[in-house]
Amino acid sequence: MRIAVPKEIKNNENRVALTPAGAKEFVKEGHEVFVQQHAGVGSGFTDEAYEQAGAKILPTIESTYEAGDMVLKVKEPIAPEYGLIKENQLLFTYFHFASNEPLTRAMIQSKAVCLAYETVEKPDRTLPLLVPMSEVAGRMAVQKGANYLEKPLGGRGILLGGVPGTLPAKVLILGGGIVGTQAAWMAAGLGADVIIMDVSLPRMRYLSDVMPKNVKTMMSNEYNIRKLIGSTDLIIGAVLIPGAKAPHLITRDMLREMLPGTVMVDVAVDQGGCIETCQPTTHENPTYTIDGVLHYCVANMPGAVPYTSTLALTNATLPYALALAKNGWQESCLHYPELGSGLNIVKGDVVYQAVAQTFDLPY
Ligand code: NAD
Repeated sequence: MRIAVPKEIKNNENRVALTPAGAKEFVKEGHEVFVQQHAGVGSGFTDEAYEQAGAKILPTIESTYEAGDMVLKVKEPIAPEYGLIKENQLLFTYFHFASNEPLTRAMIQSKAVCLAYETVEKPDRTLPLLVPMSEVAGRMAVQKGANYLEKPLGGRGILLGGVPGTLPAKVLILGGGIVGTQAAWMAAGLGADVIIMDVSLPRMRYLSDVMPKNVKTMMSNEYNIRKLIGSTDLIIGAVLIPGAKAPHLITRDMLREMLPGTVMVDVAVDQGGCIETCQPTTHENPTYTIDGVLHYCVANMPGAVPYTSTLALTNATLPYALALAKNGWQESCLHYPELGSGLNIVKGDVVYQAVAQTFDLPY
């Protein structure tokens, strides 16, 4: 199969869908790999590295799309790319169709096969191609929080782990899923006092089994949250209710009960945020302060660490991409049921119920 890897053109997107190591795997299996010039540069991979792995470098986005039976990407195609997609071409990337009607209609019109990373779902309901980005965001949340707790950046001026003879900072993590767990490991590793709140008892049992002594679990409810926020230095929002907006666990009035310079990192911002005062921010302008409480609500946190994010994402996508190249999409979707759930639009037909319902399209 001919695999094409265009350079991402969405604003500030530095990830790439295939590393040189991945290109080598395709070539070893007899496939041809075409990578657009400079596609990997933002993640630290040179054109020469792809060439050494056996890929061919193409000069333009047009020639790259033209070359592929399968197009591997990171972000959904944007308007200038719509016309480059060919009938029957297989596109394997994040799409997030339900939040983008023009994209949905353009992909129906293209008659391509659209396999979306975000709906690849295993029988145990886990989402293997979303997990790596949650891992990145969870770990980064603590790095950011520790940084913004510094006085010159607007925080309380407390060192997360303290030093001998001083108490460490207190960290409250709302939601103990992928993001929350990774955040807890990082905060605990730096020596902070960490509390994870969740509503799932089985999850909290698991967490209290595996976490170090400086991580405690507590049932998530308004009473417990109010009890803790007055003495917490860093709050991390990591709640997810699948398919729904995040509940506002920290309300506007609670900010007045917090210490001045408390930092809140709301990772759940992409689902509306679990902090009422959360508004999406960007890497260029990541924070704002309300009632003396610093908010960090960047909606694409992994974008700031494209090297790690590209490796984490491609570690998860490559085995599926290799299967698609070897067996074609129809047979691969039979072999791997989770790939089947990734199919959203097939040659003009919407085959993912939630997308069809959102835009009132035939299904
Ligand atoms: P997850 O499903 O693994 O974990 C969510 C957890 O929230 C679960 O353990 C669940 O029991 C818990 N929860 C549900 N209701 C709760 C409540 N009322 N109180 C406390 N806990 C509650 O999800 P995840 O992968 O950890 O993702 C968390 C959020 O982070 C999602 O909204 C995801 O989209 C977002 N995210 C954002 C970025 C970013 O760049 N900002 C990157 C990756 C993920």
